[in-house]
Amino acid sequence: MKLEKYSIGIGDRFGLQGVPQLRALQMAAEKGLQISPVWNKSNREHRIIGTHPSDTRREADGAVRELGWRGAYFVDADHIGAATVDQFMDSSDFFTIDVAEFIGTPVQGDALESFLEAMAPFTGAIRIPGLDEPMRVDETLLRAVAGRYLNAVKEAGRVYRRILSGRRGKEFIPEVSLDESDAPQSPGELFLILGAIGAEGIPIRTIAPKFTGSFLKGVDYVGDRGAFAGEFEQDLAVVAFASGSFHLPGDLKLSVHTGSDKFSLYPLMHRAIRRAGAGLHLKTAGTTWIEEVIGLAEAGGEGLRAAREIYRESFGRFDELCGPYLQVISIDRSKLPTPPEVASWPGEVFAGALRHDPLHAGFNPHLRQLVHVGYKVAAEMGPRFTELLRRHAGPVGRNVTYNIYQRHIVPLFLGADDPD
Ligand SMILES: [Zn+2]
Repeated sequence: MKLEKYSIGIGDRFGLQGVPQLRALQMAAEKGLQISPVWNKSNREHRIIGTHPSDTRREADGAVRELGWRGAYFVDADHIGAATVDQFMDSSDFFTIDVAEFIGTPVQGDALESFLEAMAPFTGAIRIPGLDEPMRVDETLLRAVAGRYLNAVKEAGRVYRRILSGRRGKEFIPEVSLDESDAPQSPGELFLILGAIGAEGIPIRTIAPKFTGSFLKGVDYVGDRGAFAGEFEQDLAVVAFASGSFHLPGDLKLSVHTGSDKFSLYPLMHRAIRRAGAGLHLKTAGTTWIEEVIGLAEAGGEGLRAAREIYRESFGRFDELCGPYLQVISIDRSKLPTPPEVASWPGEVFAGALRHDPLHAGFNPHLRQLVHVGYKVAAEMGPRFTELLRRHAGPVGRNVTYNIYQRHIVPLFLGADDPD
């Protein structure tokens, strides 16, 4: 299955923006850059919205048909595990196997001994092209990685084989994700984890480590960008070397789960992948949903009223809506405007507060994060909300396309600072 060197996960909570999303990739293709679209939606999103994985498949197929897209495209069963994967079997052809909850759990039988044996040739000072210093792997590191990650990899193997039999011969792309763990993985750890994945026989095409720093939902990176850049470059080198050393697919690449909008990292990532000649999968979270609210606000009238209503409800249900996301949001409640204040805003003021343009004086990241997690409110509005999206498809779609193309594809894949 041909996954392009560059691919982008485009989440779409309500499944109505397939066409405007794909249009952004078409614009990149017109510039000569092929990017594979991957529609990703997790089990949790499906549950909250009340959709089924087959809805995502329908959306992707429909958008591809409507725009005459000729490239590859995929539907991602996002962050699945043994308990949730079955319902995705028929509709998905990309599986993000999330085994973070198995990190640190003990392995059974002789798994530890066979891992140590398989890794024995990779101990000592390993020269990895692209790294200034050789990577030092000793028994202490091996045992530490085994203790922390080996059973998670074993579990990924169990889930992978379950998908293999469930797909009954139909191809799919496996990814293993570790990004929802509590600590980042160092490049050395990533190297040995890839060794374990290779030994387990999982032909992953993408791997999602957890990086240094904070990846909050819908807002920019919080952390040391220099440290991130160093780690990211080392990870690129490790992934390229591991694919040759551990019998993993030759096009194995990093998958960066961003939680969306890590704009300040994009130029660093762009330079690093260009220099290394590396591929990349970028997974964005649900900011297409925020673009929908922005589009409704700009539409005015009933659209703007609905946008205000969503904010009022989200404000009133703050604890409930933020609860599941406490680890990945950072909202200062004192910086949130009151609902009556928002009710007095014209559409463009609302859109300006919500849109992720840090240079805009009215931009409010606290309001943005609250609306980001407030999609449950819109889900509860049911057909009233989706009808509004259909009636105002113009401004909504324009914002969706612009966001993906101009804010993500251009700086990350095309290079905003590259001479054209
Ligand atoms: Zn993730």
